[in-house]
Amino acid sequence: DIPVITIDGPTASGKGTLASGVAQKLGYHLLDSGALYRATALAAQRAGIPADDEARLAALAAALPLHFDEQGVWLDGENVTDALRREEVGALASQISAHPAVRCALTGLQLAFRRLPGLVADGRDMGTVIFPDAPLKVFLTASAATRAERRHKQLISKGFSANIDDLLQDLEARDARDRSRSTAPLKPAEDAMSLDNSALSIEASVQQVLDWWQQ
Ligand code: C5P
Repeated sequence: DIPVITIDGPTASGKGTLASGVAQKLGYHLLDSGALYRATALAAQRAGIPADDEARLAALAAALPLHFDEQGVWLDGENVTDALRREEVGALASQISAHPAVRCALTGLQLAFRRLPGLVADGRDMGTVIFPDAPLKVFLTASAATRAERRHKQLISKGFSANIDDLLQDLEARDARDRSRSTAPLKPAEDAMSLDNSALSIEASVQQVLDWWQQ
């Protein structure tokens, strides 16, 4: 059995940072599942496929020429790591991720990340749908204000402009959509450990997950 730790939670809760910290400590592979939805969104935007065309979006997702390495995410030979972080790409990813056929098309790709010595997977449905047998599932939360502030810092540091009130509104809308969709809604797995990191440093959050893992 190849070990998996799943980290699910709302937008900008710090899942990516926590997951990569834990993966680094354990020497495990890392799956940023949001990047798959974002890459599908970016490819759809470029191909002019509307957000409600489920069949074409699913076909696109199933054949995504996607590649991950130390330099980031590559789409059809182009490094799209920064492009994927754009707000409008995240917003479109949120819309298209509500389509069951799109989620289905991306499932195999996610399962393939489970390789030795182990995997840390972050997203919305890692513990509930993709890796339900994971021995450690974490549900990460943080207050909406904390998350908007973090997203703001992240965007500014990448040279994008952003307004904190717009970000707050956008992330609340996105969370509401993720929670209310019928396929793979955002919710903690029944056996998930809850972690609120609003007042925790990155190091303390990583350590908490490692402590649970060693138990
Ligand atoms: O986590 P991130 O913001 O990169 O994800 C972008 C969007 O993709 C989310 O707003 C969410 O709607 C969707 N997503 C999803 N399931 C996942 C990961 C992301 O539906 N496992």
